[in-house]
Amino acid sequence: MSKSSLGIYGLGVMGRNLALNFEKFGQQVSVFNKKTEGEESVVNDFMSEFGRDKNFLPAESAKMFVTTLTKPRKILILVKAGEAVDSVIDELTPFLDKDDILIDGGNSHFEDTERRVKELRTKKIQFVGLGISGGADGARNGPSLMPGSTKKAWGKLEDIFKPIAATTFSGDPCCELLGPGGSGHFVKMIHNGIEYAEMQLIAEAYQIMRYGCGMNAYQISEQFRKWSDGPMGSFLNEITADILTLTDDDGNPLVDRIDDSAGQKGTGKWASMYALESGMPLTTTTQAVFSRFTSNFGDIRRNTSYSVDGPGASGQLDSATVIPLLSEAILASRMMIHAEAFFLITQTSEQRKWNIDPVAVARIWQGGCIIRSELLRNIVAAYEQGSNLTSLLQSPIYANRFRKLQSGWRKTASLAISSGIPVPVLTSALAQYDTLRSPKLPSNLIQAQRDYFGAHGIKFADDSTGEVQHLQWKEAVASESEKDTSGFFDETEMDE
Ligand code: NDP
Repeated sequence: MSKSSLGIYGLGVMGRNLALNFEKFGQQVSVFNKKTEGEESVVNDFMSEFGRDKNFLPAESAKMFVTTLTKPRKILILVKAGEAVDSVIDELTPFLDKDDILIDGGNSHFEDTERRVKELRTKKIQFVGLGISGGADGARNGPSLMPGSTKKAWGKLEDIFKPIAATTFSGDPCCELLGPGGSGHFVKMIHNGIEYAEMQLIAEAYQIMRYGCGMNAYQISEQFRKWSDGPMGSFLNEITADILTLTDDDGNPLVDRIDDSAGQKGTGKWASMYALESGMPLTTTTQAVFSRFTSNFGDIRRNTSYSVDGPGASGQLDSATVIPLLSEAILASRMMIHAEAFFLITQTSEQRKWNIDPVAVARIWQGGCIIRSELLRNIVAAYEQGSNLTSLLQSPIYANRFRKLQSGWRKTASLAISSGIPVPVLTSALAQYDTLRSPKLPSNLIQAQRDYFGAHGIKFADDSTGEVQHLQWKEAVASESEKDTSGFFDETEMDE
């Protein structure tokens, strides 16, 4: 029996669909899954359901699994992130040889991947962190693949992985080496952060149309369908349009029956936690994470709605006026969501010397993944035009678009706020845009407050030495009152 070029450990949703995808592209794949006492063998189930006339080699044990593979062995692990990955590594390593390659295709935290790379290097085993997006359908028909690997290991893998990937707008595989170590899983984490922010933004647009403009679910579906073409096009718009067409047995929108507590597996939260810990902004994703948390306090929300006042969504907004403005607001907010995410990627890449090419990231995300959208075409163009961009906001492509979109963005935010419709991602995107284009921020006042109560020190902007000083604020205020300030305040106005 010939040996396989690839082994897959873990035949859950992702493992079995990827196995079928690799096999479709001519790979013989060895398959294995842990056995649980008293339960049917997952491998046998897989073989009887999908394996007939297919090029799979089922394995009964980890040892047998490893022996069915050509050297250097390449094993794709698809198990739950966390301890399961470590236990699979421990189970396999006794049977592995120098230069064999373990690839973790799960949603592992990138710091875990960094640790595993180091630990396995001491055993001369290569460890690759591979971010995969696209869910079951992507895994089966073309996922977006975000590898973090040494060049040496990737040289042995790319011919196996590139064929199964989705394709970019220009027909290339959505799979490029991003950098070493945890860089692939880091990019996947940020991808998921964008996903959180984009989903929340879509939900906010839905809320404005449904409860601000009084449109029904079907009309909103039609609107998302229109947005799915052209510059607004995105996979998330498409699935939203689909979702809103569905009705229950009574002919009412199915979406109305779905509990409004949003769940999460935590990768968006990881992205926010990373941003917070590393002192970098990721306001839109973080706001989306908080919005999901807040959605879970349904009882509090319902009780509060009876006890506090304010305008309520009336259904009285004119959809013909609002929708063109909303289109601009959505696109501008999405541009800001991506600008923050790419800033975090490029800054982190610089700090960790990963050398991630943002153009490669924007290309990989053009197909197969949940955040695939037309906007990524402009992001590629923006980075190609200015290869040293620190922020996408500095790109003329971005700046011109913001110029055209910001009036609708601001009007939508105002309309939502005055109607009492919560739009946390839309407004935080706008606030972040305004913050980043402010040459002078009021944080000088914050510095003064910090020094006043905590002696934390201030620097004077006009002091070229950059010396940190502490002011005796109380004494300074007392002596200030002795200064002649007439003309500084209008005394009559003050008296009033
Ligand atoms: P599933 O839960 O469907 O499958 C997990 C597999 O891991 C099962 O075969 C399970 O075996 C096995 N497993 C669980 N614990 C252990 C363990 N301790 N030791 C050995 N094997 C174990 O998960 P998915 O296939 O959906 O996901 C796999 C990875 O891919 C996860 O990290 C997930 O976050 C990530 N991912 C998932 C996506 C999705 O849409 N589903 C999309 C992108 C990434 P058994 O069934 O016998 O317990």
